[in-house]
Amino acid sequence: MNMPLDQVKPLLQVKHLKKYYPIKKGVISKTVGYVKAVDDVSFDIYPGETMGIVGESGCGKSTTGRSLVRLEDPTAGQIIFQGKDLANISHKEMRKLRTDLQIIFQDPYSSLNPRKRIGDLLAEPLLAHKLATKEEADKKVNEIMEIVGLPKQYKNRYPHQFSGGQRQRIGIARALMLRPKLIICDEPVSALDVSIQAQVLNLLKDLQKSLNLTYVFIAHGLGAVKYISDRITVMYLGKVMELATTRDIFENPKHPYTEILLNAYPIPNPHERNRNQMVIEGDVPSPANPPKGCVFHTRCPFAKDICREKAPELTGKAHLVACHFPIDERNA
Ligand code: SF4
Repeated sequence: MNMPLDQVKPLLQVKHLKKYYPIKKGVISKTVGYVKAVDDVSFDIYPGETMGIVGESGCGKSTTGRSLVRLEDPTAGQIIFQGKDLANISHKEMRKLRTDLQIIFQDPYSSLNPRKRIGDLLAEPLLAHKLATKEEADKKVNEIMEIVGLPKQYKNRYPHQFSGGQRQRIGIARALMLRPKLIICDEPVSALDVSIQAQVLNLLKDLQKSLNLTYVFIAHGLGAVKYISDRITVMYLGKVMELATTRDIFENPKHPYTEILLNAYPIPNPHERNRNQMVIEGDVPSPANPPKGCVFHTRCPFAKDICREKAPELTGKAHLVACHFPIDERNA
C-alpha cells in the first residue's frame, strides 16, 4: 500500500462489532451474564494491505477474525464488504460471498478430512460452488499446488502424509482455490518451527503481491506480525487499544499495553528504540466481568482515578489510541 489511506476506499469496514456469548445456569438454562469476547471493535481494511491483529490469548482477536467470515455470528455491529453488511445477511447469502472471503487456520489438519486425498480436498470448494467441471478443477489444483510450492503428484496423498509446514501450504492452497480478495490468517504460523514459519510468511507475502491479496493476520507474537503487517491493531479484553502503522507501533507506541507487549519482544537492533522496562502484572481479567472504565486499568502502571471510572474512546486519525494518558502526552 503506497497511497495515503484517506485516498483509498476500504475493502472491508468493521463498525462497532460485538460478539457476546451467553452464560447459562440452572435447569432452565437461564442467561445470567455474557462473556464479552469482542466488545465494540471498529477498523477499516484497505485493498492490498495486511492488517495484523495482536494481543494475549483471550483478547478477542480470533473471534474478531472468525466473525469477519461469519464463522461466528456477531451479536451487534456491521461488517461492510462490497456494499453488503456481512453481520446481518443470511447464511445463504454469506455462502455466495465465501468465494471472496477465506480463512487459514492455525491447525489446517483439523479442517482437512483425513479420509480424502489432497487433490479432492482442494477441488472441493470449486465443485461445491459449481465454478468448474471436474477436469477444470483438477487443472486448477495442479496450478495452485505449484503456486504454493507443493509437487502436483502429492495430490494423491492423504493429509497425514504431510509435515506441519506442508499442511499449512495446503491450507493456503485451499484458501486460494476460489481466488478470494481477503484472507483471514488465524495464527497460521504459531504451531510451526521457526525456520518453517519464515518460509510460510514469505510464501504469504509473495502470494499477496502476485495475486493482489488483502490479509488480516492474527497472532499473539509480535515477530510474525511485524514481518508481514502494514498496520497493526492491538487488542485487549475484546477492545482495540491501539491501531497504527507497523512502524508507529514499534517506534512510537502510545498505549501502555502496547509498550508492555513490546518489552516482551526482543530488540534485534539496540538502536531501534530506548524502551523503558515496564512489565505487565497480574492476570487478564475475565471477559465475563471486565473492569469498569478502562479495561486495562487493573494492570496499568499509569492508572488514575478517571481510568477506573470512564472508558477511554479510541481516538486519532492514522494513529488511534484508547487511553486517557497516551505515552506521548504523558512524556510531554
Ligand atoms: Fe492506563 Fe488509564 Fe490509559 Fe487505561 S486509560 S491504559 S488505565 S493510563
